[in-house]
Amino acid sequence: MADGPAPVKCLVWDLDNTLWRGTLLEDGEVVLPDEVRAVITALDERGILQSVASRNDHDLAWRQLERLGLAEYFVLPAIGWGAKSESVRAIADGLGFAHTAIAFVDDQPAERAEVAFHLPEVRCYTHDQVPTLPDLPEFTPASVTADSRRRRQMYQANSRRAAARERFSGPDGEFLRSLELVMRIGRADEAELARVEELTLRTSQMNATGVHYPDAVLRDMCDDPAHEVLVVTLADRFGPHGAVGVVLLARHPDVWHLKLLATSCRVVSFGAGAVILNWLVDQAHRAGAHLAADFRPTGRNRMMDVAYRFAGLDDEPCACLAAPAEPAEPDVVRLHVEPGPREAPDYVHLVAEDLSAPRVEQW
Ligand SMILES: [Zn+2]
Repeated sequence: MADGPAPVKCLVWDLDNTLWRGTLLEDGEVVLPDEVRAVITALDERGILQSVASRNDHDLAWRQLERLGLAEYFVLPAIGWGAKSESVRAIADGLGFAHTAIAFVDDQPAERAEVAFHLPEVRCYTHDQVPTLPDLPEFTPASVTADSRRRRQMYQANSRRAAARERFSGPDGEFLRSLELVMRIGRADEAELARVEELTLRTSQMNATGVHYPDAVLRDMCDDPAHEVLVVTLADRFGPHGAVGVVLLARHPDVWHLKLLATSCRVVSFGAGAVILNWLVDQAHRAGAHLAADFRPTGRNRMMDVAYRFAGLDDEPCACLAAPAEPAEPDVVRLHVEPGPREAPDYVHLVAEDLSAPRVEQW
């Protein structure tokens, strides 16, 4: 990690005379300064979650946030009459964040002192600092990916999905079907490359080789017409799951060489890996090519070996395997299948590039 303060992952706001000017219960009317609204939207776009710890009448304060068009920006708001340290602690627990990742802003020195006493790792700021928060290094993430920008929506979708799962009493398959899953498979663009690299690094159980592909290598692959760098995103009726998978493919005339397939463990229960493989086999069939795939045991990725075998890939020799270069890493097993047509799964709507069509260069 680079030097500098630990990044803030959630900022907890006081309301009266911090977020807005005025005291709701005394003044009735409160005013939201434009510069505060700008701070809230700026932090949201950087993927920093925001919450509320306020001593107020809950319904009245929430209605006010709605009236100001801000309610959607806050997750796990704690509005009531308890101690602020308890509210901040509950927000951190609910998000699963360490206290070192939480910041708290309040105009009252006594409130800041109470939080600092009970939660010494939480960073506290005064209301005067609000306009400058986006300039501070702890509120400036190293990279902002497409997924950071939708982090709050992903968090909110996740909560609604988990609550629905809790209420659902039918079999798992039926719940899966009720989600109305939509999977998109497309060529990675500039904004998605950082997330693609992250997926090659952070996935473990569903990563076929455990090989890290740095940004420069991915860029070279994107520029090479013989390579495909594909990113897989998933959404359902509750909202986005974000980028959940990556496919690195080298196309030879008679064989498509799948160098890497990796999917996030968050989507293992949706069978995302199997859906992607099924689609690739079908695409290779349409293009009249065989499919070869690299698997390298990492001690944690047996699940991916199972997924490959389940998709019909095996160790049988084939003349086409002479085309791809020898693997750079030791222990790589090159699996193979002579593809036939595959039917799309019935529980997920697939929207994908047609790789079997000639690639159109974008200038
Ligand atoms: Zn073959």
